[in-house]
Amino acid sequence: MPIYEYRCQQCQALSSRFVRSISAPVAPQCDACGSDRMQRRMSSFAMGKTTAGVHESTPANAGSREYYNDPRNIGRHVEDSFARHGVDMPPSVRESIDAARSGAAPQGLDL
Ligand SMILES: [Zn+2]
Repeated sequence: MPIYEYRCQQCQALSSRFVRSISAPVAPQCDACGSDRMQRRMSSFAMGKTTAGVHESTPANAGSREYYNDPRNIGRHVEDSFARHGVDMPPSVRESIDAARSGAAPQGLDL
């Protein structure tokens, strides 16, 4: 579920709204002054790696060849597993994933 941030054009205050559906009509009002002159901005914070976010952001083609050919998906399952168990990912794992995503083979593996 995306979170939209709106900046009030009246008082510049930020308000956040959960949005159940992209297509759902949203008519936000400023939390601070009640103005409806709100300008939407995508919340970068809301795009972070919460466990729920990872699940919801899993693309429809997950498991297909295209999915695994996309370097951005390398290690996604590992990240998800650590997040699901509430365990901090060891730096070595983090480095391996980052290296793999940038095109390098994991150390110790002859690919
Ligand atoms: Zn306002």
